[in-house]
Amino acid sequence: MAAVLSSPIESQVAVSATKLLINGQWVNSQSGKTFATINPSTGKEICQVSEADAADVDIAVKAARAAFDKGPWRKTSGSERGRLLNKLADLIEKNADELARLESLDNGKPFLVAKAADLPLTIACYRYYAGWADKLQGKTIPVNGDYFCYTRHEPIGVVGQIIPWNFPLLMQAWKLAPALATGNTVVMKPAEQTPLTALRVGELILEAGFPAGVVNLLPGYGPTAGGAISKHMDVDKVAFTGSTEVGHLIMEAAAKSNLKRVTLELGGKSPNIVFADANLDEAIEGAHFALFFNQGQCCCAGSRLFVEEKAYDEFVEKSVARAAKRTVGNPFDPATEQGPQVDKDQFDKVMGYIQSGQSQGAKLVHGGGRVGDEGYFIQPTVFADVKDNMKIAEEEIFGPVMSIIKFKDIDEVIERANRTIYGLAAAVWTRDISKAHAIANNVRAGTVWVNCYDVFDSAAPFGGFKQSGIGRELGEYGLQQYSEVKTVTVKL
Ligand code: ADP
Repeated sequence: MAAVLSSPIESQVAVSATKLLINGQWVNSQSGKTFATINPSTGKEICQVSEADAADVDIAVKAARAAFDKGPWRKTSGSERGRLLNKLADLIEKNADELARLESLDNGKPFLVAKAADLPLTIACYRYYAGWADKLQGKTIPVNGDYFCYTRHEPIGVVGQIIPWNFPLLMQAWKLAPALATGNTVVMKPAEQTPLTALRVGELILEAGFPAGVVNLLPGYGPTAGGAISKHMDVDKVAFTGSTEVGHLIMEAAAKSNLKRVTLELGGKSPNIVFADANLDEAIEGAHFALFFNQGQCCCAGSRLFVEEKAYDEFVEKSVARAAKRTVGNPFDPATEQGPQVDKDQFDKVMGYIQSGQSQGAKLVHGGGRVGDEGYFIQPTVFADVKDNMKIAEEEIFGPVMSIIKFKDIDEVIERANRTIYGLAAAVWTRDISKAHAIANNVRAGTVWVNCYDVFDSAAPFGGFKQSGIGRELGEYGLQQYSEVKTVTVKL
C-alpha cells in the first residue's frame, strides 16, 4: 500500500517498496526486524524498512545461484538481456520525477539536481550496458600445433554488490547494469541511509520482466548484511563502493572465505591544481563545483585545492565570494544548491573536521557553522593557508569544506599531489598544454580532468590508483570486472 508522505518540505512522494526483494518476491526479513530511514532535512523518520541480515543473505544467494545455474538467466541471450536493460531504463525514465523526489527526500540532495544529473546518468548507464549485452565476444588465438584455440567471456556467477548513500540510484546503475549485461545474477545491499530508491527500482526490475532471482535487493546494515555478503562461500564476486576502511574489510573477508573476486571503489583526497595562467573565473567556478557538488559528498571531490602562489590571494577572495552566494536549504526549493548532509554521523564528522582545521591553524575564511536548527545543514566552508600535514588536507572530509593550499612550481605540486594514500581523481586548470599533460601524466590517479571537473560518461572508465580502489567501473573496462575468460583448445 502506498502512503503519501507529507513533510514540512514539499516532497509529496509515495513510498511503495520497503521490504526485501528475494527471488522475485517482496518479503519481510527472517528476523522480522525493520529500521528507520531518516529525512536528513528534518532528522525525522520517513518510514520503516525491512532489515536484512545473514539469514536473508543466505536465502537470496540461494535464489541468485538457482537463477544462474538452473534458471532461465543462463540461457537468456545477450540481445534479450539488452532488451530487458533497455526496458528498465525506459521505466526509470517514465518515473524519473518520482524517483528524483524519493532520492531527494531520502538523501537530502536538491530535487532539481537529482532530476538533472542523477536520473539522466542512471538511465544512460543502463542503456550503455544494454548496448554491450549482445557484443561480448572472445577471440580466436593462433596457437602452435594443430589446435583451434578460442576464448569465451562468461559471467562470473553470483555477484554481491554493496553500494553507498551519496548517489544511491547512480551507484545502483553502475553496479547492476554491467553485471546483468554480462549475465551474472546479483545480491545487492543498498546503503542503510538511503534504501528507498533502490527498492523502487526493484519494483521496476520486476515490471521490466527480469526473471525471479536475477536481482535480489537486501537493505540492511554494513557489518551484518554487508559482512554476510562479503564472506559468503557461494558469492563469486563482491563489488563495493564506500570507505577505504571498509574496503580493507571486504578484501579481508574475500581472502578468508572463497577468494571471491573483488572490485573496490573507495575514498579519495583529489588534488585540484590551478595554475596562475588559467582562466581564473572558470577555475574558481570549477573548483567550487568540484568541492561543493552533492554537499561535498563525492569520493572524487577536489578536496585538496592547490593554487599557484601568484594567483593565490585573488583566488581565495573570489572563492569566498562564490561560497557566500551558495544557497543552502530545503532540497525541494528550486533555488537550493545545497541540501543537508546525509545523516547525523556525517554531520558530526564534518563539523569535527572544521574544528580540527581551526585548531591546527588553518585560516577559516568562510562558513564553519551549522545552518538552521533542524536537519543536518552545514555552511559552505572555506579554509585558506592550509598546510599539507593538516588533517583537513590529508583525510577525506566528505562534506562542504574547501581547503585552499598554496604552491610555487609544477615539480613541487606534482610531488605534493602524489603524497597521499589515495589516487582516485585529479584536475588541472591552465592554458598551457604542456603543463596540462605534465599533470595528466604524472599525477597518480584513475581520472584526470583538464579545465573541467566531475565530467562523467557511462563510456569513460572510473576507478582508483593506490588505496582508492581496485578495478574500474563504467565503459568497456567495466565489463572485464564481471566476466571470466575461458580458454577452449580443440585438437584438429
Ligand atoms: P560511509 O562511511 O561513507 O558511510 P561505508 O564504507 O561505511 O561508507 O559504507 C558504504 C557501504 O558499505 C554501505 O552500504 C554500508 O552499509 C556498507 N558497509 C559498511 N560496513 C561494512 C562491512 N563491515 N562489511 C560490508 N559492508 C559494509
